[in-house]
Amino acid sequence: NRRWVLASRPEGAPVAGNFRLERGPVPEPGQGEVLLRTVWLSLDPYMRGRMSDAPSYAPPVQLGEPMPGGTVCRVVTSHHPDYQAGDWVLSYSGWQDYQLSDGSGLVGLGDNPSHPSWALGVLGMPGFTAYMGLLDIGQPKAGETLVVAAATGPVGATVGQIGKLKGCRVVGVAGGEEKCRYAVETLGFDQCLDHRAPDFAEQLAKACPQGIDIYYENVGGKVFDAVLPLLNTSARVPVCGLVSGYNATQLPPGPDRLALLMGTILKKRIRMQGFIIGQDYGHRIDEFRRDMIPWVQQGKIHYREMVIEGLEQAPQGLIDLLEGKNFGKVVVRVGAD
Ligand code: NDP
Repeated sequence: NRRWVLASRPEGAPVAGNFRLERGPVPEPGQGEVLLRTVWLSLDPYMRGRMSDAPSYAPPVQLGEPMPGGTVCRVVTSHHPDYQAGDWVLSYSGWQDYQLSDGSGLVGLGDNPSHPSWALGVLGMPGFTAYMGLLDIGQPKAGETLVVAAATGPVGATVGQIGKLKGCRVVGVAGGEEKCRYAVETLGFDQCLDHRAPDFAEQLAKACPQGIDIYYENVGGKVFDAVLPLLNTSARVPVCGLVSGYNATQLPPGPDRLALLMGTILKKRIRMQGFIIGQDYGHRIDEFRRDMIPWVQQGKIHYREMVIEGLEQAPQGLIDLLEGKNFGKVVVRVGAD
């Protein structure tokens, strides 16, 4: 059994030395337990937060403990009445080959799921995050302008496509020409802008001639700075993530813009709300499944994955994800089907 543990806490961007690969025997399931073998491991931006011991909504990973993560697994041996060898399950086994479970938290994926790994993306946590943040907090209405960054990742791509289904004008923000082209040509966004362009703020203003009614916040930083002056009266800002700052060790240089932010919120009566998907919306998962499964089956929502081969590559995969080197939802193929 191989597993990646947290060897040291990163200062700034994580580096290979923050992770350590350990090997041990495959554990034996006891009475009431199942032995799970990881087939797919999800890599997600929140993992950077768990590597740090700063206070957050979830406790940090302890040094020497396995890195956490959502997984799609197969049951190898079962001493549990609800599971049989061969079953596919959604689990939270972390960065390792094998894990024991007493069944709590496992979700069965049916006999023969056609795309098992999608349970980690568009049909799982990131898709659910996009759905609830946009529909419950963003409250999109036809004709409104929606801006979303990290536009080709699993959250942003889903947000923009749901926005189109609701009749919004959707402007994506992504890193690079290829991602922007994909957002328009495949995802159906009205426009997509490269946040690295020197005149990004002017381009955004031009792309949003009626201002911005919903800004789905995934990244923060310079993108938010460009969005702020364009927000309309009564705009909504679901605060989902701030990935541009996850590796930051201090506040960005420059003038204090808090008064500008607070003044804009006040004068334009803007509603900004943070949320943590599992904690705030776990009880509404059925609504999400009811809508999203048919949308995906009918081709109304497109989904792109980036597969990384082998558990050994997981640390580099996370390092790259935080720098925007991914294109689509990052999953690691840990074992064969
Ligand atoms: P993505 O696959 O979209 O990966 C993150 C992307 O962020 C990168 O690919 C990159 O895209 C973009 N990015 C990174 N650095 C910067 C930067 N400096 N400026 C602008 N963009 C940058 O991740 P997810 O779809 O999984 O997650 C998107 C967001 O949602 C994250 O902030 C995540 O933390 C948050 N989240 C929040 C949840 C919640 O419960 N609140 C649950 C799940 C996710 P590009 O190259 O296009 O810029």
